[in-house]
Amino acid sequence: MEWIAATNNAHKLEEMRRILGKMGHTVLSQKEAGIALEPEETGTTFAQNAAIKATAIAALSKKPAIADDSGLCVDALNGAPGVYSARFCGHHGDDEANNEKLLQEMQNVPDARRTARFVSAICVALTDGTTAVWHGECHGRIAHERKGDNGFGYDPLFIPDFVGKDLKNTENLTYAQLTAEQKDAISHRGAALAEMEKELASVLEHAVNSKE
Ligand code: IMP
Repeated sequence: MEWIAATNNAHKLEEMRRILGKMGHTVLSQKEAGIALEPEETGTTFAQNAAIKATAIAALSKKPAIADDSGLCVDALNGAPGVYSARFCGHHGDDEANNEKLLQEMQNVPDARRTARFVSAICVALTDGTTAVWHGECHGRIAHERKGDNGFGYDPLFIPDFVGKDLKNTENLTYAQLTAEQKDAISHRGAALAEMEKELASVLEHAVNSKE
């Protein structure tokens, strides 16, 4: 199926393309679809923000759209930065400044209290107005320093508990030290998209039937 990815984040687009491509989907960027819109993320949950983005892009393009809203929830920070992950440092999309702020906020937090999880909400919006949302999570902890060059965002500071199915992360590798395939197999985004894939056929069938 062909989707427009409701994002202007090139890294997210790359991951969504990679994971959805393996499932047999084609993903167009907003740029390829000629849509420059960046809807304001006014929701207080990942699901709300994913729905805002997907429905806005589907309404404008009149094509099915898929959005990811995601973020890092750190236990010692009461779940912050959460839905504000992209603007933790005070302005939008500055990965370096966000990582610096996270390291500072965590500097006196001992290992046992550095637990965190990445969350992704995936929303699909169809042309008949149907929407559906799925969640995925990846549990881990916050490193004391940046490690690795792959990925984006908080990847150099996030140590996932597992690096493959039933494979414990004994080397304490960060997301940024994993290959793309390794990250996709355990990531919050990979998990949410896998849930979507399980149920998408029934959502599509219901959307078709509801038009009859
Ligand atoms: P939003 O979903 O566009 O509001 O922003 C998500 C933000 O969460 C990104 O800008 C990153 O800071 C962070 N984030 C989400 N997913 C990942 C990931 O896979 N790796 C690292 N950071 C991520």
